[in-house]
Amino acid sequence: MKFISVKVYDPYQKKLFYEEISLPKNIRSEKLVVVPTFFDFHTHVRLLEDQEDYESLKKACIAGGFSEVLIQPNTKPRLENSKVHEKHKKLSENPYVRFYRTTSFFGSQEPNNIDILCYSTDGIEYNYNDLVENFSKKKPHFLLDHSQMFEHPGIFYKKIENLPKRPITNEAIAVARTILTGIEFGFKDFHIQHISSIYTLEMIKFLKKYANITCEVTPHHLLLTNEHIKNSNFKINPPLADQQTREFLIEAVKNNDIDILATDHAPHPDKKNDFEKDPYGTSNIEIAFSAFYTAIEDLMIVVNKLCDSPRRRLKIKPKFDSENFVVVDLNQEFIVDSTKFYSKGKNCAFDGMKLKGKVIGVKINGKWGFWDGEYLLD
Ligand SMILES: [Zn+2]
Repeated sequence: MKFISVKVYDPYQKKLFYEEISLPKNIRSEKLVVVPTFFDFHTHVRLLEDQEDYESLKKACIAGGFSEVLIQPNTKPRLENSKVHEKHKKLSENPYVRFYRTTSFFGSQEPNNIDILCYSTDGIEYNYNDLVENFSKKKPHFLLDHSQMFEHPGIFYKKIENLPKRPITNEAIAVARTILTGIEFGFKDFHIQHISSIYTLEMIKFLKKYANITCEVTPHHLLLTNEHIKNSNFKINPPLADQQTREFLIEAVKNNDIDILATDHAPHPDKKNDFEKDPYGTSNIEIAFSAFYTAIEDLMIVVNKLCDSPRRRLKIKPKFDSENFVVVDLNQEFIVDSTKFYSKGKNCAFDGMKLKGKVIGVKINGKWGFWDGEYLLD
């Protein structure tokens, strides 16, 4: 073990300083920075045969620098009742990565603020009647919304033939519908998932007068556009937008209109490059920090929105000490190769892309879980 003087950024106190830190190897880089472990507000697990389970997801999280994630409810069967939640709780217990869960807004389970933190509509097709019915019968609680009007069938890639198109304004209209309906029935606390249009942010700004609303953006919506689409790994919901929207979203992160950076890690072992039948999503939790840093080019903003904002939003006490941290090298560039992922999801829209800023080491609860490309725990 070598002690070296490393730059540290503490997003909880917004402080930058130098400290002697022990690392497994004596590495030299002027751009080495120690930051807290990350929190992902938006993660999918599968638990189906040969698909992402909690063991492979745990490895992928650690390789990506994430010690805590929030699981979305669209598993099979859905996270919507106590039986399914108990099963997930059992399967996800481990000493390193904390898996918090959302619960389906349309099910019988209520959030408990311990391990089931909030409602979510992610991955579930719902219409206006479903929304009104559930807002009217449920006790108000924090709700995550995958804002989409499912009444109109919707994939949206103009260039791919034979697919129905979803209007770009669909998301903003769905945001207004969810939040205004929720407010009418006493809900006050909302988080809008994966913003993908300028209209959505304008809509949220207006609605913030009436409710507590935060929102997130994904690495793919910050780095990729509909011009990049070359196979069905780019079949992502919401769809990749145009260059103007991408630039607008980056600015919105920088000026704090977007509060949280979230992965929407949606692993699938293999896609068949069949746009019509393949499932949605991209597997990206292992390279999320790098993708965000490449897009934003500002370490403090990225770390604030991967550590402080999500934990503050969910009232989770942060842990940042000599036993828990991530080492990143802001100088290091690499080409994404999803065949090397610890995740069972090999469907990565960033495959072959050059990213800058790499997670080098991850220490959780006193143990090195990852160092220089290698997973080190059992
Ligand atoms: Zn999702």
